[in-house]
Amino acid sequence: MATFKDFRNNVKPNWCPGCGDFSVQAAIQRAAASAGLTPENLAVVSGIGCSGRISGYINSYGFHGIHGRSLPIAQGVKMANRELTVIASGGDGDGFAIGMGHTIHAIRRNIDVTYIVMDNQIYGLTKGQTSPRSDMGFKTKSTPGGSIESALNVMEMALSAGGTFVAQSFSTDLKELTSIIEQGIAHKGFSLINVFSPCVTFNKVNTYDWFKENITKLSTIEGYDPSDRGMAMNTLMKHNGLVTGLIYQNKEKPSYEQLVDGFKDEALASQPLELKKDKFDQLV
Ligand code: SF4
Ligand code: MG
Repeated sequence: MATFKDFRNNVKPNWCPGCGDFSVQAAIQRAAASAGLTPENLAVVSGIGCSGRISGYINSYGFHGIHGRSLPIAQGVKMANRELTVIASGGDGDGFAIGMGHTIHAIRRNIDVTYIVMDNQIYGLTKGQTSPRSDMGFKTKSTPGGSIESALNVMEMALSAGGTFVAQSFSTDLKELTSIIEQGIAHKGFSLINVFSPCVTFNKVNTYDWFKENITKLSTIEGYDPSDRGMAMNTLMKHNGLVTGLIYQNKEKPSYEQLVDGFKDEALASQPLELKKDKFDQLV
């Protein structure tokens, strides 16, 4: 049985001291161990950004892709080898700006991939520009007069797109974050986990203290039911998206690959390549 130490390698992260991404790395390693995985069963795919380095810091299969493209790669890996547990990862700029087209379609497609976004509400790697998750009025080098765009409420977006596992956590809450990632791995379908992961170097507004003051944990809301989509949406709207925990889970909808496998005997288009080749050979 592997422990979280088996998911460590000897690469020293070059994140700034205090960066929230350290805890996300630790939580993935712990969740992988408690889910009973071994490094050979796990693939971590990442995009570009400070958080994108995470695939190199975990002892597993890894793929550091290009900007906004962790999801096409992760979905390809999963479809090619259904035995692997696949984690896609990246930042808010990576997943919710350039990569948003992939994010929204991966949500509705429901392939069994766990997508962990390290959301610091800024572009960190390029030294501090406004991201789709930055609040109105947020001042950076790219918005010196304050952002005049409103922040994307990504959890509401995921619910609207038909997400079957929608969750949020905070990087200092290692216990909750580990549990959420473990539940995301166990979920049969696409899991979106948005993690508030402060950038201590460039975001001086959305700090650890700011999140502690503004976050409501769903576990403290009496009667909260994560199988109730309407309740999930109302709660997000009431708290301006600043909640942590399992927001919504739909255990009934089959994953994409379950549906593909179910259609194998029915439709030529979904039959294995070898079979299609046989049919093709008969024709020529
Ligand atoms: Fe983390 Fe920000 Fe430093 Fe990047 S710049 S490593 S996001 S603290
Ligand atoms: Mg970011």
